[in-house]
Amino acid sequence: MSSQENSDIDKSQDASKENSQFIYSLILIFLIPVAIIVSTFWGMQKIQKNIESELQKKTILAKTIFAGAVSDSLDDDSLLETKIKTIVESNTELKEITVLKPIDDGFLAVASSDVNNLGLTFKSLQYTSAWVDDKSITSLAQAEGNKNERYWVIISPLKNPDSENVALVNMKISLADIDSSRQKTLTETLIVLSITIFFVLLLLFNHFKFFEYSILFKRLKEVDKMKDDFISMASHELKTPMAAIKGYMGMIFEGVAGKVDQKAKAHLEKVLANIKRLDALVDALLDVSRLEQDRMQFDMQALDITQVLSEVISEIKVQADEKKLKIQYETLAEPHPLIFADYDRIGQIFENIIGNAIKYTFKGGVTIYHRIEEGRLKTIIQDTGIGMSKQDMKGLFKRFYRIRNEKTADIPGTGLGLWITKEIVLKMNGEILAESKENIGSAFTIIFPIIEEKKQ
Ligand code: ADP
Repeated sequence: MSSQENSDIDKSQDASKENSQFIYSLILIFLIPVAIIVSTFWGMQKIQKNIESELQKKTILAKTIFAGAVSDSLDDDSLLETKIKTIVESNTELKEITVLKPIDDGFLAVASSDVNNLGLTFKSLQYTSAWVDDKSITSLAQAEGNKNERYWVIISPLKNPDSENVALVNMKISLADIDSSRQKTLTETLIVLSITIFFVLLLLFNHFKFFEYSILFKRLKEVDKMKDDFISMASHELKTPMAAIKGYMGMIFEGVAGKVDQKAKAHLEKVLANIKRLDALVDALLDVSRLEQDRMQFDMQALDITQVLSEVISEIKVQADEKKLKIQYETLAEPHPLIFADYDRIGQIFENIIGNAIKYTFKGGVTIYHRIEEGRLKTIIQDTGIGMSKQDMKGLFKRFYRIRNEKTADIPGTGLGLWITKEIVLKMNGEILAESKENIGSAFTIIFPIIEEKKQ
């Protein structure tokens, strides 16, 4: 399968992942408020049912108390009437009490808190069943005039002291108080519910935003990876033709391909210098991509830093000599401490820092010395160069950062050296610091933990 096909599959998998995340977010947006609404109404209904069943029990209790209170007055209808009125007047929840006695074709209302009922004959299955089966029948009913007003109705036999069924009582207990407090609770709950849903929607909206950010972040990472891959591929591909150009140009310069006159040699020197710069840029880009993709190899070993420094200084001295700069190295007293690092990478670090010190210095020179403090070996590279202002130093150690002013205008560079150096130092558990004063000079300090002293 080609890499194009692979990346197409990856992309379609990513797209379906994004789609499912989107659908998941949409479901959440609908499901959460619906769940809150359903659970609120379910809870309300449960409470309502509990209250009503409690009230039903109270209705039965009220009837029992009433039955006890009137058991000895069942023969006297006017006394019964008085008692009923007193009871109804002192209990606002009691809407109506009617006592009925059986006659041939039904039940005759003999005493009632509602005068309209007196003398009327009531016939219904409920009355007959309560009388015949000797049991209390409770039911929920609505007021005739006002559909919003509800009652618990209890129809129950009344017994004389000899426990004989003498009459029936029809008692209505109003649910008005409970219904109005239920209405109030419902209104309050709806307000709280609306506020909750508002905040939940706000939260979900934010979730959507985060979701959007996460997609953007993923895309950014993809683009970043594409850039890294491109730098890595381009610098690798450049390496081979660069080596060929360098080789052949060198041969031409040496006169291998025929005699080269002085004028042509001067031009060739310029070409070679530019090839060298290009080569350094490609090397730097390769290091950047290796470091970014964590592909740089480190052959860690105990080593004597003074040995690496002596080699680097002897190689780089030519550059200092060309600018008539003095390079001074104050080595360490024996026995030399050892650090744990990669020999070549340590060399690369010092090449960079000492190279910069020479590059950005026009008179005076570069001094390299060591300090041992708290089990750490510090190497200080101090120059008497152009220095840097505090403001300019803020971006130091960042990728592609170059200080641009008239003093640096003609100095070539990529702005990658210090970033690469810092990354390599950190990878080997070291530290790098910079101090500088404009027109006075700079000092870079590289610190590594000491592992042991060199055995003689
Ligand atoms: P460059 O290839 O530009 O030298 P570096 O990453 O090595 O890139 O350095 C970044 C910038 O820091 C340089 O452009 C220069 O302005 C500044 N710099 C580095 N070393 C010194 C130094 N010893 N003295 C003054 N300026 C320095």
